[in-house]
Order: sequence, then C-alpha cells, then structure tokens
Amino acid sequence: MQSKNERLMEEAMRYIPGGVNSPVRAFGSIGSCPRFIKRGDKALIWDEEGKEYIDFVGSWGPMILGHNHPAVLEGVTEACKNGLSFGAATAVEIEMAKLVCELVPSIEMVRMVNSGTEAVMSAIRAARGYTRRDKIIKFTGCYHGHSDGLLVKAGSGVMTAGVPDSLGVPKGCTKDTLSAVYNDLDSVREHFMRCGEEIAAVIVEPVAANMGVVEPKPGFLEGLREICDEYGALLIFDEVITGFRLGVDGAQGYYGIRPDLTTFGKIIGAGMPVGAYGGRRDIMEVVAPLGGVYQAGTLSGNPVAMAAGLAQLTVLKENPQYYGELNQKSAVFFKQIQETVRGAGLPWRVNHVGSLGCLYFTGQEVFDYESAKTSDTKAFGNYCNYMINRGVYLAPAQFEAMFVSMAHTKEQLRQTLDVMEQYFSELKKGGMSL
Ligand SMILES: *Cc1c(COP(=O)(O)O)cnc(C)c1O
Repeated sequence: MQSKNERLMEEAMRYIPGGVNSPVRAFGSIGSCPRFIKRGDKALIWDEEGKEYIDFVGSWGPMILGHNHPAVLEGVTEACKNGLSFGAATAVEIEMAKLVCELVPSIEMVRMVNSGTEAVMSAIRAARGYTRRDKIIKFTGCYHGHSDGLLVKAGSGVMTAGVPDSLGVPKGCTKDTLSAVYNDLDSVREHFMRCGEEIAAVIVEPVAANMGVVEPKPGFLEGLREICDEYGALLIFDEVITGFRLGVDGAQGYYGIRPDLTTFGKIIGAGMPVGAYGGRRDIMEVVAPLGGVYQAGTLSGNPVAMAAGLAQLTVLKENPQYYGELNQKSAVFFKQIQETVRGAGLPWRVNHVGSLGCLYFTGQEVFDYESAKTSDTKAFGNYCNYMINRGVYLAPAQFEAMFVSMAHTKEQLRQTLDVMEQYFSELKKGGMSL
C-alpha cells in the first residue's frame, strides 16, 4: 500500500514539474519519496503522516531561531492585520534597512528584494553599472541563485544532478562569467592578468555552503580583497547563507573582511521570501531611482515579510550570546560526528564552520569543488535515507549543509548522534550494503 507521502507525490507530479517547486526537494539524488511537511515547532518538524523529525534543514537556513518563534509569529500576525501589501513606501522598510546597516558595518545602504537569486542578480548589475565593466568572476561550486549569468558550475542543485550548466541559458548570458577555483588565488590572478580592466566584480560565498561546507583557507578572502583593490574591481560577498548565521555581522564579521557589496537571503526573511543587497553608499547610489541601474519589485519590502525579518533580526541583535552558544554546541556536535565516523573505522570527513557542517563520504580533504566531488554520493544516499527514516531530517543531497539552529537542544543533538552511531556501526559490521 502507498504511504500518504507517496500518494501526495504522485498527485504533485501531475501538476507541478517533478512534483516540487524547487528541485532538491524531490529527493532525486537519494532516490526516495519526499516528505510532505505539515508543521514545525522549534527544532522539530512533522510530515503529513504525523511522523516527527529533528530538522537539520531549517528551510535551508532561515529558521536559525527554530520554527514558530513567538517574536516572529507575533510580528507577522500583527502586520497581516494591517493589510498584506500596498506597493507603496512603508515605515517598517526604514526600520529594517536601518537595522541591517547597524548590524553589518560594510552596509551603508540596502535594497530589499524577494529572494537570494534576485539579490545576487541585482548586486551584479549594480557592480557592472558602477564600474562600467562587464565581466565577473565566480568560483566553481559556489551557488548564487538561478539567474542566467550565474548558472555556471554552480554547486549543489546542479552538482547532484550532474548537469554543470542549464538548458535555456543562451551562451551570450554566460560569456562574461569567468570561473575560478575556490581557495586558489592564482586562478583569480590569471583572469585579472588577462583582462583585469574588464572585470567588474568577484563574487564569492565567504564560506562555500553549496558544495557541502568549504571553509576559506587563511588568506583567501584577504587575497581577494587585495586583488580587487589593485584592479578597481568590486568584491561581493554572497552571504545568503552565512549572513546573520556565523554571527550577527555574518562571515565578513567572522573573518574580518570588508566587501564592497553583500547579498542576503534566507535568515533575513525568517522564512518569508526576502532577499537584500547592500554595501557602500557610492555604489548603491547607482541604483534607480537615484542612478541609472534599473532594479524594481512589486512586492519588494513587503510589510509582512519585513515584519518577519525585523522580528528575527531584532531577537538576534538583542541576544548576542545566542551566537556563542550556537557555534559552541555546533562545534562539539560536528566533532562528535567526526569521532563517530572514525570510531567505526571509516575515513569520511566532516567539514564545519559555525553552525554549518557537512559529512563528505571521502577520505580526502575537501577544500574546493574538485575535492568535494570525490565524495561517494551513493554512500551518502544510503546514510541520508537511513537518517530520515529514523527521524533525523537531513538535506536530501550530499552537497548541502547541515544547519544547526538555536532551538536544537543537547538531547536532540545526542539523539541524532545515536542514530548516526547506529548507522555506522551497522555499516561496519557489513549489515548494510554501501
Ligand atoms: C540559496 C542561495 C541563493 C539563492 O537564494 P534563493 O532565495 O534560493 O533564490 C544564492 N546564494 C547562496 C549562497 C545561496 O545559498
């Protein structure tokens, strides 16, 4: 007999391409049936069959406070009562912009949009408009949303599908996108030496979190800053994942690097569709209606979405100790995962930065896209299905991060480790095929 999740998937497939509104949700790379999620609370979620899971996806990052945080819930419900959208200026947008500028020192002005994709697309347009140059450099394995010019060697979604590029993207759209190797400054310098005066910007995930989790090597981000300054190019940090996660001032605070432009998404909307881009005032002033770079959005700065983001960022600002606690408990947790794997005599490796972590099924050190690709995705699939079947909801793809939230309790992390221990010891005994 079909389970309810299977029935729902069958029906969804009839009306929605692949049954889902974003590809990774289809569980394609682990070959099982997606769970249709009905509700969440703190670090737990429940599917349509009533089964409970400890959630390590957290809507891919936004739920850093856990699901259903009372402050966020109250902000949203109060905002709803006043109307959902006006397409006109509202006071809450000023509050939100002020708060972002206050929390992230490199941001002097910020524009709200509706997704991370839009934020990055717009930041790049602003960088090109400001520098009057066309080319950009991105890193292989970094994901910056699904806009045409950025679907070049773009990390998780495309990586697990084994499709390096996308159909439907005209060659003309990617001809100005240069690829470099993460953690390899020479690969960046080569581009600049060839055509430095044509390069508008370097865009980077300051911690790469769409090829698993790859930390920048010491000197890498600093080196990017120097090269950009030398050639008059802009440095864009895509902090859609790391923003308000590694600390309230994101990866730029964590590593002490000041980018020219920054993009946000995910946490900034607390689960509502919000993105933002911002940075130096003189650059942001090229954006319409002040300047000649056109960028607009009917629902941008939507009052309900702003209320959600504002409530979440306010809680984070008022409780700076939360980050210390989160990063500390996450470090212990990821180390314990590594010990569990070692204890079972397996060579696999855990990478982690703050509350982001990834278990790679490879014995090699992972520091860029090529080394990430050595991971055995079939072994990951078996592990991931085992975990989900036993109530630990992991991202259903190897090259995604595990997101620990402030709501995860020590007991829930212990329970998670217990399930992992069980899996790896069964695997070692040969009770399971790889
Ligand atoms: C998720 C993500 C995006 C795209 O954001 P969407 O809201 O999915 O459009 C861009 N950059 C990074 C680093 C991301 O992780």
